[in-house]
Amino acid sequence: ARKPMMAGNWKMNNTISEAVVLTQEISNHFEKDWGDSVDVVVCPPFVDLKPAKTVIDFDKMPIAVASQNVYFELKGAFTGETSVAMIREIGCAGSIVGHSERREYFGETNEDVNKKVKALVAADLYAIVCVGESLAVRESGEMIDFVCAQVRAAFAGVSVEDATTCVVAYEPIWAIGTGRTATPEQAEEVCAAIRATLAEMYGEEAAEAMRVLYGGSMNPGNVEALLAMPNIDGGLIGGAALKAASFIQLVEACL
Ligand code: 13P
Repeated sequence: ARKPMMAGNWKMNNTISEAVVLTQEISNHFEKDWGDSVDVVVCPPFVDLKPAKTVIDFDKMPIAVASQNVYFELKGAFTGETSVAMIREIGCAGSIVGHSERREYFGETNEDVNKKVKALVAADLYAIVCVGESLAVRESGEMIDFVCAQVRAAFAGVSVEDATTCVVAYEPIWAIGTGRTATPEQAEEVCAAIRATLAEMYGEEAAEAMRVLYGGSMNPGNVEALLAMPNIDGGLIGGAALKAASFIQLVEACL
């Protein structure tokens, strides 16, 4: 059985002082043995990573820190970018890659996503690879082809050993921040197709080991039904991760 993952994507929210408070609130609610049953990850903005990491003692409190983005070049004249070595030295476990907001507002392509995945795994960090269709694609009925093509592109040329350290997050764009959560059946249909694609690329055993998360208006009211689906292994949480109480409820749903 796959260990569930509950990851909070804070997006562009929380200054350092706010990030420290929220991280401490999450830690305070956290029972150490929860780490046996669920991988908990917080993904603050870059400037908050080190302060957030500093207030978590992973041995006492198994909460990992990951970034929301990373650049694929190792170093050099890339003004404004952040490298895998930089996030690794902070103590990040990995990074979100290819979030739909980055694809939409910052022009990230499938090729960029693939390069970022490769840069992360080469540094022994994992990628949380986000995929998901727009409302127009969903209404055209072609969401499975669209999302599976994103998965294939993200992992093109990535070895099975490296791919199995990574996580895929299915986030239908029409469900992000809208309160319009995908139904468990809608989410399961696509997550199952993602796993089938991973099986074609890497074999059944690897695909069975990889986690596929759902994201998009996941909250304490709908988490149980989504997690009950056989191919949904956790969540990537936006709004509900910005309050310790709701994030902890989502973590508890994985226990
Ligand atoms: P919401 O949970 O706010 O819909 O955001 C989901 C998301 O984009 C997480 O990456």
